[in-house]
Amino acid sequence: MTVHPTAAVGVPTSELSGDKLRSYVRRWLDENLPAHFRVDRLSDRAPTLEESKAFEAAMYEAGLTGVTWPTQFGGRGRTLREHLIVSQEIGRTPMPESVNSIGKELVGPIVLGIGTPEQKAALLPAILEMREVWCQGFSEPGAGSDLAGLRTRAWREGNGWRVDGQKIWTSGAARSQRCLLLARTGVPEDRHRGLCLFAVPLDRAGIEVRTIRSMDGKDNFCEVFFDNVELTEDEALGAPDEGWSAALRVLAIERATNRMHRAWRFENELTHLVDAAMTDPGLRAALADGAVARQIGTTRVAIEVLKAHVEGAVSAITEGETVGARGSLSKLHWSEAHQRFAADAIALLSRAVLPHGVAVRAALERFRSIYLQARAETIYAGTTEIQLGIIADRVLRLPKG
Ligand SMILES: Cc1cc2nc3c(=O)[nH]c(=O)nc-3n(C[C@H](O)[C@H](O)[C@H](O)COP(=O)(O)OP(=O)(O)OC[C@H]3O[C@@H](n4cnc5c(N)ncnc54)[C@H](O)[C@@H]3O)c2cc1C
Repeated sequence: MTVHPTAAVGVPTSELSGDKLRSYVRRWLDENLPAHFRVDRLSDRAPTLEESKAFEAAMYEAGLTGVTWPTQFGGRGRTLREHLIVSQEIGRTPMPESVNSIGKELVGPIVLGIGTPEQKAALLPAILEMREVWCQGFSEPGAGSDLAGLRTRAWREGNGWRVDGQKIWTSGAARSQRCLLLARTGVPEDRHRGLCLFAVPLDRAGIEVRTIRSMDGKDNFCEVFFDNVELTEDEALGAPDEGWSAALRVLAIERATNRMHRAWRFENELTHLVDAAMTDPGLRAALADGAVARQIGTTRVAIEVLKAHVEGAVSAITEGETVGARGSLSKLHWSEAHQRFAADAIALLSRAVLPHGVAVRAALERFRSIYLQARAETIYAGTTEIQLGIIADRVLRLPKG
């Protein structure tokens, strides 16, 4: 597939800001998103990996990704507020999630934070141009919530490193070229000390990626095995002892500013649900039922709270503050509200009297997939219980039991 930004909207984004930037992004997406990418319509097929990569590369050419990254590393050098405008428009467009969100939203900021100039030049443009898709190798069979319990070892050998161990639940590893690996450079008893991040090329000898089928029938999850894998000196990111603080930064980004678009995507899903329901007499009657109306109202409020969280985080970061543990509030609020909404949406759609109507079928197809994904949202990037613990401990500073 070749996607070309149309000439009419191929304006350099550096000349645009505020409402002009917003209408440029809206129009670009409108004119360039292939019809079968739209997740609110009945589609014959989902995009292939190659199609997704080509489309995301075109988004980059059009100035829609790498918005805040420095220009010398391929970014647009714009403000976080401008990134928010672009994210809001992406959220409002019913399109698939990026296949390289780990690269763009987690690896990019961390490499900008702790990478050497050479690492930034080598790694960052490859992410934006979609030449390198990344995965995140943190969790292990015995270390999920308790990440400090991880056992994958890295030790110095000659001028470089060797790595040995196993990761699990590595989303997208089978389609990735690189893995952001967290490994132990000290002994297990060191817990938070003696950890290091690595930028591991997945085609290196000794690495085996095995897919795990999930309940939605997808093969996105993987196990990644490292058998005495050789890494070069410049594949370590940051100092050997910097791994834990760097990992915490990755997790804070993951919870606070990663996928900023999701509040606006959530709003798009709610609008889609109500519009589809209005086409069916049974669902229209259900909307008039007080209990359903209350659920929809509650969801609407949850979305507004979530938008306020995102806008608050952008203001805080713009004013030089760090979001840190407060990112857990957004993650917890979004995952819990979205999971409830997905269950309510499926329950509502099951009351259709014309389930074969095009609008109801399209909504059912979309919300079945959202329902299954939402089950995982209260687990990944730290479970609900872990977020509650962080809020109690580091936001409210409650005494420990
Ligand atoms: C869809 C999906 C994608 C993922 N993608 C990735 C990825 O790309 N890379 C990656 O590294 N990992 C990924 N993960 C793994 C994810 O980070 C872990 O599943 C998560 O951290 C939980 O760890 P665990 O599965 O080992 O469960 P456990 O840590 O064993 O937790 C089991 C249960 O015990 C509870 N629990 C554990 N500790 C505490 C505590 N201290 N207080 C209260 N309750 C507690 C948990 O809340 C949970 O209910 C993904 C997971 C999912 C579901």
